Amino acid sequence: MSKPLENKLALVTGSSRGIGAAIAIRLAAEGADVIVNYAASPNRAKAVVSQITNAGGHAEAVAADLSTIEGTKALVASIDKVFGGKFGGRLDILVNNAGMVKFGPFLESPDDFYDKHFNLNVRSLITLSKDAAKRMIKTGWGRIINIGSCHGEAAAFPGVTMYVATKFAVRGFTRALSRELGPTGVTVNNVQPGAVDTELSPDDNGPAAQAMKKLMSVGRYGRPEEIASAVSFLASPDSAFINGESLTVDGGWNA
Ligand code: NAD
Repeated sequence: MSKPLENKLALVTGSSRGIGAAIAIRLAAEGADVIVNYAASPNRAKAVVSQITNAGGHAEAVAADLSTIEGTKALVASIDKVFGGKFGGRLDILVNNAGMVKFGPFLESPDDFYDKHFNLNVRSLITLSKDAAKRMIKTGWGRIINIGSCHGEAAAFPGVTMYVATKFAVRGFTRALSRELGPTGVTVNNVQPGAVDTELSPDDNGPAAQAMKKLMSVGRYGRPEEIASAVSFLASPDSAFINGESLTVDGGWNA
């Protein structure tokens, strides 16, 4: 039986671990060929690629530090070369997942706080979406899926002011771009996870983790696979009538 994403090329940024790794593995299981982007951990990216290939899927790891313009350009250039040029420069699915957060009071934050958060969480996503959309429009089909956050819906948790600003930007960008691309067959959506147990936000039962669990009505952290399943649906042909949406997958955080 054919799989829903067969013969589709997907790029998942920051997919050597955490939510990105789960998304890459899930999209490959649905039949997509997947570019596993990573910044600094080749062994972990290779492990994700091995997991995919051992399960019969196709994946290639591509290094690119998306906090820099050069890194973003290098990743775009790789699209033309992966899988021996099989896709001829086409890109069907872009998942803008790479992101970072630093906790702490805004008034005590270092001067480079703005650049660090925005360059990765917003600028790389905007730059990649522009290039991806141009490629997708040529085939009349595409899916751009941004990984925002429950912090992009409301500022319910203190100490992440700059992160909140970036994730609100992701939501606004998603909506605006969806209007421009709607007629082309390319959809743009935003998945907003609640607290998910990853290295970015470990469920270590410390005071922050306990406070976050209280905000989520399900009373627990999410698993990366639970975010991947929402992304997989938005990447599929079944989601064609969903555009500009921010889908909260947050255990009730923003209910
Ligand atoms: P993580 O820290 O476990 O993984 C982040 C990924 O981004 C890693 O693969 C890392 O290598 C990559 N990355 C970091 N800097 C990079 C760079 N300069 N260039 C390229 N890649 C880079 O985090 P995660 O929890 O898996 O988060 C993934 C996304 O989900 C982020 O956008 C994050 O904001 C969002 N998110 C996470 C949570 C959560 O609770 N974990 C909640 C809401 C939203």
